[in-house]
Amino acid sequence: MSEVGKPSQIEILKINSQQLRGTIGQILNSAEVGHFEHDDVALLKNHGTYQQDDRDERGQKNADGTSKGKSYEFMVRTRIPGGKVTAAQFLAELDLCDQYGNGTVRITSRQGFQLHGVLKDNLREAIRGINRSMLTTLAACGDVERNVMCCPAPIKNSPVHIEMQAMADAIAEHLKPRTTAYYEIWLKDENGEEQNVAEFKPVDEPIYGATYLPRKFKTAISLPEDNCVDVYTNDLGFLAVVENDRIVGYNVLVGGGMGVTPSAKKTFPALAKPLTYVTPDQVVSVAEAVVKVQRDFGNRSDRKVARLKYLIANIGIPAFKAKVEEYFGKSLPEPKPLEVTGVDDHIGWFEQGDGKWFLGINIENGRIKDVDGLRIKTGLRTILEKYGMDTRLTPLQSVILCDIAPENRADINKILREHGIKQVDEISLLRRYSIACPAWPTCGLSITESERALPGILDDMEVELAKYALSTEVISVHMTGCPNGCARPYTPDIGLVGRAAGEQYTLYLGGNTIGTRLGFIYADYLPKENIIPTLSPLFAYFKAERKTGETFGDFCHRQGKEGLEAYSLAFNNAT
Ligand code: SF4
Repeated sequence: MSEVGKPSQIEILKINSQQLRGTIGQILNSAEVGHFEHDDVALLKNHGTYQQDDRDERGQKNADGTSKGKSYEFMVRTRIPGGKVTAAQFLAELDLCDQYGNGTVRITSRQGFQLHGVLKDNLREAIRGINRSMLTTLAACGDVERNVMCCPAPIKNSPVHIEMQAMADAIAEHLKPRTTAYYEIWLKDENGEEQNVAEFKPVDEPIYGATYLPRKFKTAISLPEDNCVDVYTNDLGFLAVVENDRIVGYNVLVGGGMGVTPSAKKTFPALAKPLTYVTPDQVVSVAEAVVKVQRDFGNRSDRKVARLKYLIANIGIPAFKAKVEEYFGKSLPEPKPLEVTGVDDHIGWFEQGDGKWFLGINIENGRIKDVDGLRIKTGLRTILEKYGMDTRLTPLQSVILCDIAPENRADINKILREHGIKQVDEISLLRRYSIACPAWPTCGLSITESERALPGILDDMEVELAKYALSTEVISVHMTGCPNGCARPYTPDIGLVGRAAGEQYTLYLGGNTIGTRLGFIYADYLPKENIIPTLSPLFAYFKAERKTGETFGDFCHRQGKEGLEAYSLAFNNAT
């Protein structure tokens, strides 16, 4: 069953890394060396940080005409199961972005935080600061289980959300790596002394072994009526089965994943498929079994096809299930008939069921910053310092403030207004359900803009939708600067994926906001300035020919590429 081949360079690196140590500690302690080299760059990801360089500054020259070289900096990602963050932890992250980063914090599409622009000299202190707040960067990236996602709504009058969120914690805790390298490199050495690798003693990695997983591994838990986590895009998903207001079990979904390499036909985006049904007490053990099957049978010679989705595509669900049963120790039943039916971005004011309220605040592309009249960072800081409430990070890169007494709502609204932070009735549905990855200037893999381009595209799209009286439609746009798909661009109504230099994109249509369908490629190598002219006739078609209650994504799926193209051609000829 295993695809045996020559191990990839990364696999050899992991084996020889002394459980992910490499020479990270030595380079970190060397004042003469300004950045990490290839092997350590790869290993650093397992510690929650990516070495990057400011791509806006690439190619710039000194006064004498010589190249300035790369401006190295680091992204530091925090792993936060279910996006649960205390006020103190949130404030610590805001402090760290000012002390060591570029003055912004980014909420990720997997309910984590990212600091950007951290210099090497500040990297250890930034990671220590996160750990001092009782959060961690360990396993936020790398070839392990990454952040376990879960619906963040702080509903208190039903056990369903509380049980789900506790399950996310349990899975994350069970599947976290056990290597002590993280502690030794980043936390232990208060004097900044070089760690002594000769003292290295391997610790048992009961789940991951010496080489960890073949590739990153993502898990999410969802409710059928609220797939805010985009459960089908994960390697492993749990879809809750609720009876009498209790979770009685979960359908297990396997093999979702977004990344593709357009030049490699063997790669594809995939939605997770139903595997089995488990009771809550079986969840952690079955998760471990799935991870171990991927560990032992995933492709370790070609990282392009190393995600779980390729193993499942190669061997099929029955053979994969048989292996999971073998690792789990007993047979597993068929999944229950269960479908995702809805999604909620949790933006706005809601009673949370215990006499208090929660407030979801939309953060455009997750970027917490102060710019001119829009002072999100200071506004959130003011509220958190004054009220000290718990918060939740959402999968649509936004934030929920929890546990708000009714009498404090007016004051919180006032603080938001004073800082220019828009409330639910001031933001279009289009914008609420749209997200972008960072791309330029920090991501080394970005081909095009994403975060910096999406707001302008949405401005223009809002105008077009208003023209056809479609402003009240829920339409999701997910944009990424390359096909790796970090902002899940293959499932929404509209996906925009960076394709080629010169701001050219692949336009995907026919997915949906509830995340149950992959879109199809409607246009490739589409210049940014042609995105709105390409969509405008399709909005007109949707307005004219939609069925009652049909969403834009469903309409595009029903018409298909050819139907949409035919209408668009006629529309453009007539206008
Ligand atoms: Fe970078 Fe591509 Fe991920 Fe965007 S999708 S953050 S460009 S790797």
